[in-house]
Amino acid sequence: MADANLRVVWIYPDLLSTYGDQGNVLVVERRARQRGLEVQRMDVRSDQQLPTSGDIYLIGGGEDRPQRLAAERLYRDGGLNRAVANGAIVFSVCAGYQILGHEFVNDQGARQAGLGLLDVTSTRGTDQRCVGDVLGDMDSRLGLPQLTGFENHQGITHLGPTARPLAQVRLGQGNGTGDGTEGAWNDTVFGTYMHGPVLARNPQIADVLLKLALDVNALPNVDDRWYEALRGERITAATQPG
Ligand code: GLN
Repeated sequence: MADANLRVVWIYPDLLSTYGDQGNVLVVERRARQRGLEVQRMDVRSDQQLPTSGDIYLIGGGEDRPQRLAAERLYRDGGLNRAVANGAIVFSVCAGYQILGHEFVNDQGARQAGLGLLDVTSTRGTDQRCVGDVLGDMDSRLGLPQLTGFENHQGITHLGPTARPLAQVRLGQGNGTGDGTEGAWNDTVFGTYMHGPVLARNPQIADVLLKLALDVNALPNVDDRWYEALRGERITAATQPG
C-alpha cells in the first residue's frame, strides 16, 4: 500500500464549510497517511470544475442559500455523477446530504433537484429545527461502533427503497421523519446529518471510506486513543441529564 496514491476532493469549501465539516477531510487525509498512503487533496471551489478522477469526495453542511447555489452548480457541472459512475466514494453531511438526494426544499421554498446519487428526498420540517446531540446504532452491515454527532437542520429526509439507513437513533432526530433513522447509504455514497465533525468523532467511518476507495477488506491499525477519549467525552456529555 506504500506507493498507493489517494485523491481526496473537498467540494465547495467556499459554500459548504460553515459547520466545521472540513475536519472530515483532515481526518480522511490523516488516517490515509498513517497507513502509508500518499494523499493528494483537492479543494474545489464552486467556480471551478469538479475533477472526476477523485477517489473520495467530501461535501459538508451549510446554510440554506449556499446550499441552493452549491446544488445548482454541482448539478450543472455533472462531475460528481460521473465520478460516482467511475466508482468514486462520496461522504456528505447535512446540506451536502440533501443535495445528493433526488430533491430538497431550498431557501426560496421551492423544490430543487439534487444529484440523485442517494435514493432520498428532503422536505422542510414544520416542527422545531432539529438541533442537539445524537447517538445512534450504526447499520450492522457496517460493523461500526455507536454513531455520535451533533445535528442542526430544518430539512427532513425520507429514504427510498435503495437507500439504507446509516443508523438508528437512540438520542436526537436524525432524518427527522419520526422513523428513528439517521443518514443513508448505498454501496459507495454516504449521507448523514451529523456534524461534529462526524469523522473526528467516528474515525472508523473514515476507515470504511478508505477501504472502499482502496478496495481492501482491512487496514493496518492506528493509535485511536485520542479519538476514543473524544468519543467518550461526547457520549457522556450527550447522555448526562440537564
Ligand atoms: N439548510 C439545511 C437545513 O436546515 C442544512 C443545514 C446544515 O447543513 N446544517 O436543513
